[in-house]
Amino acid sequence: MNSKILKDLSQLCIHTITTKPWDIEKAAKNFSREGVAGITVWRDALNGKNIQHTGHMLRELNLKIVSLCRGGFFAYSDKAKRALAIDDNKKAIDEAAALGAPLIVLVCGADAGQSLEESRKQIAEGIEAVIPYANTANIKLAIEPLHPMYADTRSAISTLGQANDLAEQLNSPVVGVAIDVYHLWWDPALKTEILRCGNNNHIFAFHICDWKTPTTDLLLDRGLMGEGCIGIRQIRGWVEEAGFEGFHEVEIFSTKYWEEDQSVFLQKIKQAYLEHS
Ligand code: ZN
Repeated sequence: MNSKILKDLSQLCIHTITTKPWDIEKAAKNFSREGVAGITVWRDALNGKNIQHTGHMLRELNLKIVSLCRGGFFAYSDKAKRALAIDDNKKAIDEAAALGAPLIVLVCGADAGQSLEESRKQIAEGIEAVIPYANTANIKLAIEPLHPMYADTRSAISTLGQANDLAEQLNSPVVGVAIDVYHLWWDPALKTEILRCGNNNHIFAFHICDWKTPTTDLLLDRGLMGEGCIGIRQIRGWVEEAGFEGFHEVEIFSTKYWEEDQSVFLQKIKQAYLEHS
């Protein structure tokens, strides 16, 4: 089962950030033409756009809008900043609703000026504060654990176990987790934790790329699937075993690939997806 090779692109979704040099219209036209089934929209791609029209444009191109990236950043030692974060997450929920995206991915935040425990407490309070708003708008929220190298400023949620704990504590049908192989591949408890959130129907998203060796930049040197050391197909097998049938979302931040012709890069993504995911 874990060695099953993908035969088609019907579960392939690409994040707008992956082909960052393209604006959303260009990305959407190219994804659609190349048979990509889904798109995850980063909020920066919507700057200056009519969001409802953009959603309409994506649906006209037969692209399934998988999620909006990203909300979160709830943890600040400054109370006023925490309040602003809650407002911004409500704004993201409005944007998702206007776009027609059913899900927002949360990069939960961290403040290097306080303990990780304090940041996690603020994250829980922040998500709890926006749950009623998300519920009314019928938008789901996925807690995405980030690799611990980002625990200083980006996410105090570093493991899927922590994300599962939080999702279970919040106990809301709109709250689940996003599993990103780049952040979680190293965790010895990964399979157990994937099966745990599968049991709770908490797997809301699955993100793929690869960890290059050596990696030259901790943010902007992600690899194409097959280019690094992550057992992507094995992890996909666990996610499927846990009952997930959603999209496989290619999320690559790479200065190297952003300098390439994005049409050529898109062909490489398709090939890498079919051969190594
Ligand atoms: Zn991700």
